[in-house]
Amino acid sequence: MTDLAIVNGTVVIPGSDPAQMDVAITGGVISGLVEQGSITGASHVVDATGLHVLPGAIDPHIHLGGYQPLGTDTEPGTRLAALGGVTTLVNYFKATGSYLDLVPEYIKTFERDSHIDAAFHLQLLTEPHLLELETTTRRFGITSYKINLAWKGREKAVFDSDRPVDNGWVWSVMEAMKEIAPDKMVLNVHCENQELKNEAKRRISDEMSPDLEFYERLAPDFSETDSVLSMMLLARVTGVTTYLVHLSSDLTMQALELPWAESDHLFGETCPHYLMHTTDSAAELELTVSPPVRHKEDQDALWEALADGRLDTVGSDSNPILRDTKMGNGEFWSVKPGFDSVGLIVPSLLDGGYHRRGIGLGRIAEIMAESPAKIFGLYPQKGTIASGSDADLILVDLDKESTVGQEATAEHSDFSVFAGMTLRGWPVATISRGELIAQDGHMLSEPGRGRYLRRET
Ligand SMILES: [Zn+2]
Repeated sequence: MTDLAIVNGTVVIPGSDPAQMDVAITGGVISGLVEQGSITGASHVVDATGLHVLPGAIDPHIHLGGYQPLGTDTEPGTRLAALGGVTTLVNYFKATGSYLDLVPEYIKTFERDSHIDAAFHLQLLTEPHLLELETTTRRFGITSYKINLAWKGREKAVFDSDRPVDNGWVWSVMEAMKEIAPDKMVLNVHCENQELKNEAKRRISDEMSPDLEFYERLAPDFSETDSVLSMMLLARVTGVTTYLVHLSSDLTMQALELPWAESDHLFGETCPHYLMHTTDSAAELELTVSPPVRHKEDQDALWEALADGRLDTVGSDSNPILRDTKMGNGEFWSVKPGFDSVGLIVPSLLDGGYHRRGIGLGRIAEIMAESPAKIFGLYPQKGTIASGSDADLILVDLDKESTVGQEATAEHSDFSVFAGMTLRGWPVATISRGELIAQDGHMLSEPGRGRYLRRET
């Protein structure tokens, strides 16, 4: 009756202390969490002696198909995600045309090429995107959308739209969301006040120096925090669930101490590159990203906020790109933001969070699985270890040390900003819907088994 039993491991249920239990899996879902030694007659047994069993990680922020075709990115991207302990991702799509035509194509490509399950976020750029919002929500089960406030001023040039991407746009989208499915919809916001960034550039461009420190000064911390404060206000005024993507600064973490940030519908995310890198990084201009990586005090503040709950999730913001494309014509101003970093959420949290800062495994499991599942309408199918949930699990060796190599990016990208970094705490097996898909650094599954996750509206 039991298809798969994971025995002798230490199970980490999000928010709880690790406990010795065995996990029974039947038909791809968890059918029991039981006393060790009590499962009999399982068809397959995985011995997890010395290992921790955590829920598979959910990467809530990834851009497969961002710089390159979706068909180029999906197989290697989801393979590396699975090897890194990610069992579900939520991918961003950005297009100027109608999503009603495009989403069926995205689903088809994804289900042809993916190793793991995925839901989608859509970026709202134009007035027609707002007009079709209710249809995209109900037809495809897409409940999360994104606004990137850093587009402000480039709408006409980049996506031929007359509608400014500003706080007014955010407010009008929030009002529309309230009408469609007020308790289900989430607005993701890239918080940067572009006016302040423009002024920063005007003030310092004659001091140009092609390094990360100068790059950081072009997008000062307060340009992020200014925008975060506005979003806190709009979330409060409208009551719409607001998710602040890729937060990067100490100043913003201070803003998240304000009483308005206590709200149950305001959430914050950071990324492995802000947690593991600073402007001193040896990766140099390979590490340009928006917002930029900052300083040691910002990094410390982000870890503290993850530990105390001001930050809720970690997303990779992985954006596969080849080095030649990224570096443009070799001049500083032509370097493009972003890089591939899929699959490093779990080792980053275990090395930097568990080992170096003493964040408990129950909290780590919340950050990497339960919180993103709850925020994006995937819980309890995803994001936990409980009877009836999908058997998306990882076996983790807390003491395994491994140095990230260039191969961390596979063929859809050809450099890793984490290359050379030795991290302690790695997944050694990944199980998706009861199927062992990766083990000891080897992929066992074929592409095409991943499912598109429609969310309830
Ligand atoms: Zn992003």
